[in-house]
Amino acid sequence: MSTFQAPKGTYDLLPPHSATYLTVREAISAPLRNSGYGYIETPGFENVELFARGVGESTDIVTKEMYAFETKGGDRLALRPEGTASVLRAALEANLHKGGNLPVKLWYSGSYYRYERPQKGRYRHFSQVGAEAIGAEDPALDAELIILADQAYRSLGLRNFRILLNSLGDKECRPVYRAALQDFLRGLDLDDDTRRRVDINPLRVLDDKRESVRKQLTGAPALGDYLCEACKAYHEQVRELLTAAGVAFENDANLVRGLDYYTRTTFEFVHDGLGSQSAVGGGGRYDGLSEMIGGPALPSVGWALGVDRTVLALEAEGVTLDIPAATAVYAVPLGEEARRVLFAQVTVLRKAGIATDFAFGGKGLKNAMKSANRSGARLALVAGERDLAEGVVQLKNLESGEQTAVPLDAVVDEVRRTLG
Ligand code: ATP
Ligand code: MG
Repeated sequence: MSTFQAPKGTYDLLPPHSATYLTVREAISAPLRNSGYGYIETPGFENVELFARGVGESTDIVTKEMYAFETKGGDRLALRPEGTASVLRAALEANLHKGGNLPVKLWYSGSYYRYERPQKGRYRHFSQVGAEAIGAEDPALDAELIILADQAYRSLGLRNFRILLNSLGDKECRPVYRAALQDFLRGLDLDDDTRRRVDINPLRVLDDKRESVRKQLTGAPALGDYLCEACKAYHEQVRELLTAAGVAFENDANLVRGLDYYTRTTFEFVHDGLGSQSAVGGGGRYDGLSEMIGGPALPSVGWALGVDRTVLALEAEGVTLDIPAATAVYAVPLGEEARRVLFAQVTVLRKAGIATDFAFGGKGLKNAMKSANRSGARLALVAGERDLAEGVVQLKNLESGEQTAVPLDAVVDEVRRTLG
């Protein structure tokens, strides 16, 4: 072991397990790529002010969890704790919303950083795949995103997840509810921090995970009772579209989510096999965010799914993904001349699209065959001096042990035929 270890709250993705992560990212993004979402990549850090304004001054993310720092040049930056603010910033900066083709639909995949108390499913460096649909107020768009996330999880074989759904109201009805909630919360027995939160962002108190707070929340005014007619109608349409698509959901009046910018539709995907880190993904509508970061009014909706927790959910359900072996053919040369000839064959096979590896490092036959088996390859290509003198190589089926001599110029065809 070296003197260095991965920083606290982080872990490395190593083969073969890392292949699962690639497959999960691929599976989550596939429905998006199939639905008009274009790929966007933004920097790993941004001006800290973007998150302060875009995520919210009163959120845990900004007050406690952000990796903020000052550069040598005096810029105040932060490692990105989430994707939405950056994606919207980039879309506004590039005027994507002015192309006359709204909504702008984007998807992303990457690393996010939050200074949290590390535990299973909660890391300081984690990975998300996300989607944002910018510039349209249409319940079908909210429904689309939820349907696509549902499809993504199902395509991976996940079954024991639930979709929690709520509406947070808009700038008409939310303030009325907010005031009623504050009245209620001010009557409770809360610590100073939480009292401050009651003043700044009372909805988030509903999201408090502590039992001491939770048990006092029964009887709190419910947002659903305060929704204006427009919000009610909008929410009803989202629900109808989901039902029509066969996507089951649960109405959860307490679902507020940790970010300040959400309006109307909010949702979370929870998995029951993950203990307290049960949220595998979440999202919602953020109609006010663009204006909060200095843009025009652009009603938008999006989600982010956690790759790490999705992998944990797969493990919890005992789902093993069907990931093909990285190597199909493994070449084992016996002697210098064979080394030259087989190495050339390896390149030919690779060019033909066949995943091929080679016994490097001058291993003996026994060791090389061990490596061949370990690689997961179905075929070994073995050649020694006698084979080369006859212009052939031995094609060994590593499952059956059966071996046949194949002329050099027929290797690609024969390998293809055998692999099927
Ligand atoms: P939680 O309530 O568990 O803290 P969150 O509401 O902060 O989650 P979001 O900001 O909505 O999470 O991020 C979307 C998804 O990203 C989460 O559902 C989760 O799967 C994942 N995620 C968030 N924070 C972490 C973390 N620290 N470690 C691993 N995954 C995370
Ligand atoms: Mg969190």
